[in-house]
Amino acid sequence: MKGAHHALCGAAAWVAVASTAPYTLGWYPVSSLGIVTGALVCAGAALAPDADHHDATIAHSLPPVSEWVCDLVGRLAGGHRNGTHSVLGIAVLTGIAWAAGTVTMHSDVLGDLAVGAGTMSLLLVAFAARALRLARRRLDAWALALALAGFITVAAPTEWDWLPVAVGLGAAVHVAGDMLTGGGVPLLWPWEPRPPRWWRRTPVLNDLWSSGGNFAFPVLGTTGSWRERLLVAPLTAYAAYGMGAAVVVGSLTALGHDPDVVMDQVWDAANVLVGTATVVGTIALTTPPPT
Ligand SMILES: [Zn+2]
Repeated sequence: MKGAHHALCGAAAWVAVASTAPYTLGWYPVSSLGIVTGALVCAGAALAPDADHHDATIAHSLPPVSEWVCDLVGRLAGGHRNGTHSVLGIAVLTGIAWAAGTVTMHSDVLGDLAVGAGTMSLLLVAFAARALRLARRRLDAWALALALAGFITVAAPTEWDWLPVAVGLGAAVHVAGDMLTGGGVPLLWPWEPRPPRWWRRTPVLNDLWSSGGNFAFPVLGTTGSWRERLLVAPLTAYAAYGMGAAVVVGSLTALGHDPDVVMDQVWDAANVLVGTATVVGTIALTTPPPT
């Protein structure tokens, strides 16, 4: 799966899990701010497993440092689509996010600052901003990420519990996305069991569990295929809907309104408008034209 597509899947997954708006799962509800930031962090985390590859979006984010980091990760993880694309890789990345969340600093002026979580989300949001083309130039992506992470580190230092959840979800979405394209991933790395000979000779089965020990469910075909784009288009709309709803609810709350009451009123007004339009339309259609 392509980098931008991984990021979009990550943002959509966070909206589904963390938002409580209609058409979402609401399994891990967070505030409106947490939905918007979390979606960007999750989108960035959905790029992270490809840090094992010096040609990935992440490697180009802050050269030459990002290139060195990607080379090192690739070496530790046994090359591209190996360690970082496994259950162990997802667990390690989640663990790093959790550990980052425990790093805080006290300042007399600003109180407690979540510097660890702030730094980690700065990196992930910058990756996401580049991949999603929210910022055209590399420097703009870093400026956007710095503004967002800085604001949250200062404004909402207690609101970082969701960081490991967003990072774990993003990494899992990446691995799942790569499983849907040909080639598959070594889910159980460093254990890479090989299928028996009869399995390797059976069509379809040899795609699901390949002779190299990779697991796949390659319904999307090759990376960047039209099927991949067909899956990502509605997910993009869904992520935009979830983040938009969070901004509306957050703004209403900040202005002192009860979002539920306002949304009920909007819904009632929409019903009245549709009802009136139907009556007017029916009268206009059934009235004979003047002669
Ligand atoms: Zn990958």
